Amino acid sequence: MKTSIATVSISGELPEKLAAIAQAGFSGVEIFENDFLAFDGTPADVGRMVRDHGLEITLFQPFRDFEGMPEPHRSRLFDRAERKFDIMQELGTDLVLVCSNVSPLALGGIDRAVADFHELGERAARRGLKVGYEALAWGKHISDHRDAWEVVRRTNHPNIGIILDSFHTLSRQIDINSIRSIPKEKIFIVQLADAPLIDMDLLYWSRHFRNMPGEGDLPVEAFTSAVAETGYDGYFSLEIFNDQFRGGSAKAIAADGHRSLITLGDRVRRNPNASGLTLPVMPDRSAVQGVGFVEFSASEADAGELAGILRTLGFSKTAQHRSKKVSVFSQGNIKLLLNTDEMGFASASYAVHGTSAYAMALKVDDARDAMDRAVALGAEVFNQPVETGEVTIPSIRGVGGGLIYLLDDTTDLSRIWDIDFAPVDDEHKKQDAHLLSVDHIAQTVAYEEMLTWVLFYTSIFEMQKTPMVDIIDPSGVVRSQVVEAPQGYLRITLNGAENRRTLAGHFIAETFGSGIQHLAFETADIFATAAALKANGFRPLPISPNYYGDVETRFGLDPDLTERLKAENILYDRDENGEYFQLYSGTFGEGFFFEIVQRRDYRGYGAANAIFRIAALKKQIRPEGVPRL
Ligand code: MG
Ligand code: MG
Repeated sequence: MKTSIATVSISGELPEKLAAIAQAGFSGVEIFENDFLAFDGTPADVGRMVRDHGLEITLFQPFRDFEGMPEPHRSRLFDRAERKFDIMQELGTDLVLVCSNVSPLALGGIDRAVADFHELGERAARRGLKVGYEALAWGKHISDHRDAWEVVRRTNHPNIGIILDSFHTLSRQIDINSIRSIPKEKIFIVQLADAPLIDMDLLYWSRHFRNMPGEGDLPVEAFTSAVAETGYDGYFSLEIFNDQFRGGSAKAIAADGHRSLITLGDRVRRNPNASGLTLPVMPDRSAVQGVGFVEFSASEADAGELAGILRTLGFSKTAQHRSKKVSVFSQGNIKLLLNTDEMGFASASYAVHGTSAYAMALKVDDARDAMDRAVALGAEVFNQPVETGEVTIPSIRGVGGGLIYLLDDTTDLSRIWDIDFAPVDDEHKKQDAHLLSVDHIAQTVAYEEMLTWVLFYTSIFEMQKTPMVDIIDPSGVVRSQVVEAPQGYLRITLNGAENRRTLAGHFIAETFGSGIQHLAFETADIFATAAALKANGFRPLPISPNYYGDVETRFGLDPDLTERLKAENILYDRDENGEYFQLYSGTFGEGFFFEIVQRRDYRGYGAANAIFRIAALKKQIRPEGVPRL
């Protein structure tokens, strides 16, 4: 698969864009005329700069409002075309994109369009150039790739071909089977973009909300499969108009783009009829079977406090690392590690973020395969020396620079607890609180990073995204999106904070970056757990008594149940599948907290309760401007 991206897709000046595009691993770039006009160098300088980065210019665009114009416009357009051809030859590219005419002056009629393209083809041929015709979804007379193809087919000129763009086809729900009958040599390039499903004006939707394949809701994979079935083996080029991307980091957006294209190619490659697509083979997405452990980095003093909270939650210290200051707290299938080592990455992470859950381990079928796929998709590998004889756990960087360790049952990794750790008896052990497993991990990120991490998880692991929901914080809205593995073996809620007055925004500001803000554990009996917690001296997050009057009437709850919920500060929710119970701890450090949930077939995360929970949590955090002690 030959990968390309349009300069318009990312932010910055042209040199910065080209550097980011090359670094991300693309081999081609579409030069947008505006990027070129804003740059001070000559077309030849731009061409040289592109080639110095090892890139090829896949096309120059756009040439607008060309076909079917009355005189004297028609003659002037051919003069303009000749000037564009001059630029292309200086740049060193042979393809120009002509998008279908949107001018009110445009005359319809296929014969007129064919005549215009025939003449343009003749002029292009004299210079050894090619012209690709693309149907804009809002074109005046041509707004469907099938009609654009009919123009190209009838023009029947070797220098005139079609350009397919997934957005224009999929936004209008045009049958993609029609692509399969286009001869591959007449497809000059294929542009790809996804978009969230929003019911709005096509032009506005296209210019502001496109995103990377896999980040939106359009069937881009089916579109690409249809293209690949023609035997097409040319460039797939991202053309993403998105305000957020244009405001974001060029490097990060380019990296996301490359990851999305390779992921898409890998999926399409698995279609046996997609003969055109060649791509290095990489392992399939890894199924996640659970959370192996979550690791906190902490100072000695904070670790003492955190260990105290964990014991009230029913955890007990079960093991100690043989060479490092790392202790293991366990309950049910849950393992939490407390790392107070003064050396290594945990300590560096503590220095920047304070006490935080900086690493998590995911259990997969084959950690090596998962690692190979992550590397193929551009994930950053993490290495840290271990003592002789100790187990090296493969790991990659995740949200906020934190770590994702990969564990499996087939290699030495399964023996890490025997090899690296020695069992201990916890003399301060309290009552078990019936916590079974990690239900979900909530990561708080800046709003602009959300799509990046959705793509990260869903491309490397067998995880699905669910629709984005708004969480109402008393100080603003926080966007929340869930990525889940089948059967709930791993659930991650990504919360995107737009302002620092929200609880999520405060967390990012105070901990200097994104990270795990809460960990939710599962119990099969919330009231039994609440009783054990009470016996252990656990301090739950106090919920306003007013909440319970509302929840009782909203769901028609039995008043006895409402009283029990209220007595234990348990929140309640219900969806079409079942019921949900939630119990929270207070905040620790800069807004980290624990949650305990019981699911009775419920699929969500209690979004409706978030405002009450956030209001209660906010009462506990250090007021703005008060220095950390
Ligand atoms: Mg396009
Ligand atoms: Mg939660």
